Amino acid sequence: MPPQLVYLDYAASAPLDPEVLEVMRPYLEAAGNPSSTHAAGRFLRSAVEEARQTIADLIGAAPGEIIFTSGGTEADNHTLRSAVETFSLSTILFNPTEHHAVLHTIEDLARQGKVRAIPIAIDSQGHIDLNHLEALLKEHPKSLVSIMYANNEIGTLQPVSEIAALCQQYGALYHCDTVQVMGLGWVRVDEWPVDFLAASAHKFYGPKGVGFLYRRRPIRSFITGGGQERGQRAGTENVAGIVGMAFALRKAYEKKDTYYQHLSMLKRHALELLRMQLPEAHINGDPSLEGSHPGILNFYLPPEKADDLLLIHLDIAGICASGTSACSSGSGHPSHVLQAIGLPAEAALRAIRLSWGWGTEKNHLDRAIQTLQQNLAAPIT
Ligand code: PLP
Repeated sequence: MPPQLVYLDYAASAPLDPEVLEVMRPYLEAAGNPSSTHAAGRFLRSAVEEARQTIADLIGAAPGEIIFTSGGTEADNHTLRSAVETFSLSTILFNPTEHHAVLHTIEDLARQGKVRAIPIAIDSQGHIDLNHLEALLKEHPKSLVSIMYANNEIGTLQPVSEIAALCQQYGALYHCDTVQVMGLGWVRVDEWPVDFLAASAHKFYGPKGVGFLYRRRPIRSFITGGGQERGQRAGTENVAGIVGMAFALRKAYEKKDTYYQHLSMLKRHALELLRMQLPEAHINGDPSLEGSHPGILNFYLPPEKADDLLLIHLDIAGICASGTSACSSGSGHPSHVLQAIGLPAEAALRAIRLSWGWGTEKNHLDRAIQTLQQNLAAPIT
């Protein structure tokens, strides 16, 4: 990344930690295939299994419950599609603010006639309505429930322990997309009866293109081919990526308190800046620190105060931010998340998401808010 850029798009992807790159290097260079039985293969196989053990220990799982994938999208696809098939499920109850990796998969399963997909009601900050979930579970007890931990656009946290307990009570299976929170060190599946979860390394300073899923019970393979991952995910393992991901996750868990303090200090600062310098800003999602991701802030400015080119102003000033999730930006469509919490399309199109991490300093947020403020006063004509 050019050093002069201010990067405020960690929710889209965090930069690779240089220590992670060093740990990966020997495996990027190594010959061999982890499925080969000779010494070169065994060297890679033991690295993959050590990484699996590390990740399993960190999240309180058994190593055999971890399946490596090419990232969060594959982990979500794999879980939803394979769980529906393996357990002959006919209903999915879903949170309408899920990432497209979940939503489009559910839509596809519904289009093929494999499931009935029922949205769960949410409030104007994006929190699941637990009463509605329970009412749906009473009617459809053998469902698959898909509700993420933290929303990638607005940061709203869901009451995942209560959701998991409800699913358990009614015999439903619970899939949780934990992509945005895995790096906060909060996930322990031995303390939280979730059935499946999805994670992605590039959100916690690991490499892009690698992730994992956790499954409490075996599910069918999603990708067919060789017998890798105990027959549950064919394809030669991304050894360097897997090793880097395990190292990055261990670091995240070891430093979770310092990391949380840093992120939440920045969130308090960002909220204060908005209050002082952009009081017209409307915060999207849960604005409280307890109810939201400490590194994500989403807001919009009313049309009479700002044109819809604020993200371009930020870009020109060397500040990288997003208007929506990275997977949808550039599509020209208003965010489904913002619309689901009740924003009109024109407001949703003007939303700005700032997200930060280890490398962020207060002055980066100062620059971003100052740039926005300057461009309120003199909008491009
Ligand atoms: N789920 C959530 C909540 C995400 O934020 C993302 C990526 O932004 C994904 C899934 C997809 O993960 P990946 O980029 O690893 O495919």
